[in-house]
Parts: sequence; structure tokens; C-alpha cells
Amino acid sequence: MKTARGAGRRISLRSGGAEAYFMWVGADGLTPLLSDKSRDTSRNLGGTAERRFVPCWDGAFFECGVWSVELYAVKYGSSMFSLGSVYFDQKGSPRKVPFFWLFYLAKTDGKTVLFDTGFRDVSDFEKWGVTPTFPDFTDLIKDLKTRGLLAEPDAVFLTHNHFDHAGNFDLFPEAKFIIAKDALFEGVRGKDHIAVDDEYTFGPFTMKVVGGHAPGSSVVYFHHGDKKYVLTGDECYFMANMTENRPSGAVADGQKNAAFIKDGFDRKLTPLTFHDPQIFSIYSKMTDYIAKII
Ligand SMILES: [Zn+2]
Repeated sequence: MKTARGAGRRISLRSGGAEAYFMWVGADGLTPLLSDKSRDTSRNLGGTAERRFVPCWDGAFFECGVWSVELYAVKYGSSMFSLGSVYFDQKGSPRKVPFFWLFYLAKTDGKTVLFDTGFRDVSDFEKWGVTPTFPDFTDLIKDLKTRGLLAEPDAVFLTHNHFDHAGNFDLFPEAKFIIAKDALFEGVRGKDHIAVDDEYTFGPFTMKVVGGHAPGSSVVYFHHGDKKYVLTGDECYFMANMTENRPSGAVADGQKNAAFIKDGFDRKLTPLTFHDPQIFSIYSKMTDYIAKII
């Protein structure tokens, strides 16, 4: 990659407490000027801010301190579910436990990002015994738009291609989809998409392919303040999978799942899962079906 020392263009500067960040674009429009000493951002970012370069929405690079991030969990259904599928150590248990069906949405730097899409096929609701939040899923989307939480998403991360995570992909025709190469499916192949081999960073969010729950099953890491989060997809159904180091009972590759969970446990990451009712007791509820994580 070319560098253009001493040149470059500062195309945005915002400051204001913890939300301050710089954005620079190199002279070639892509390359950050890593060696340009004149840009000491530390005084603007505060003592604890981490300086790093990440790809910007349009392929240029942001130099970031702390991103402005709002993150919400949205519940589109609830059901009971087999405990033996949640935890490997409960395999064979006849117990069923309360189970939510969630996706997440983030607003960051004026962009809207979705993490999975849920599903709306009535036969799937019946098959899995799921009670929907709104009888018609599109009413949930309308509600989120009315509340100002959801604009047309700029990006949609799909953690895997199972029906409850990718079923509504067709509702977001303008979005760029980010999905593991091994999880690509026909519908997304025809859309603007990035097929991820191993790792991909978009704004403050880094997708990493794990492949434990299903082929190409992925997770998304980010940090906010001092806290490190991981959106687990279905590598963890419940937060306790990670906080108690208990591998999942629903895996295609148990070793990969166990390694991901142990790493998160060791690093004390905060897991954000897509089926755990606890998300709605730990984080502040805006409504019965929207919880504000950040
Ligand atoms: Zn799921």
C-alpha cells in the first residue's frame, strides 16, 4: 500500500468529551498517514482513547478515538427452547427454558447498522412455537422507524444463514451485506455484499468467522469505553455460555465453538447474544421489545 507522507486531508473533526474523533483521508484517498507527527489527536481524544485506523464506510480510513455508538437489542418473538441445545453440559435434558428471538441495531457516526434480520415466515413461527412481538414483522420495522431508531441500514452483518438470523434480508435492498464466505446464500449473492474469509472491519465493528455453531458462523467484536463486547450470533445462545465458559449444545464444530467461548471467557468480554431473555433484564428497556445496550 502506498503512503503519502505529509499530505492528506482532514475531512471531518468533531469533538465533545468522550465522543470526540478525527477522520483523515490520505492523499490517495485510502491510505492513512501513519507517520504524520503533526496530527497528535491525543489532546482531543482524552487520555484513555485508543488511536487506531479502521476502514471508513466508503473505503477510506477513519482514525478513531472513541466512536459514537448507540446499540439496541430488538425482540421480535419469544418461545420455550431446549436447555440441552443451549448448553453442551445439559445434552439430553428434557427441560425447556424461556428463549427470546432478537436482532440488534446500531447507530454510529450517522450510519445505521443491523446485526441479523430476524424472520417473518408464519410457518417458521408455528414450527418453532414462537409468539411474535408484532403479528406482522414489517410493523416492527415501522415502529423502529417511527421511534427514529432505524433508518435504511447502510450495512447488515449476517452472523450466519439460519432462518432466524437472515430470513428478512430481502427487506433491506439498499444495504451492504457482510457475511462469511462459507455462509453466503443465493439471495445475498445477488446483492451488494462482502464475503468474509476470516475477519472484516467496518466502522467500529470487526466481524470474525468462528464456524462453531454452523459453517461460516461469525461474531462481531467492538469496544465502547473500557468495555469489550462481542455480538455472538449463535455461538452462544445465552450470555452464561461465555460468562461461565459453557460451550453450546448446538454446534457443527464443537472444538471451534469451545475455543471461541473460552477466549471470550478468559478476556472477560461482555457477550451480547441473540436468544437470551437476560438481555432484557440486564439492559435498560425502552419498551417490552427494545432494550438499549449502549
Ligand atoms: Zn438463532
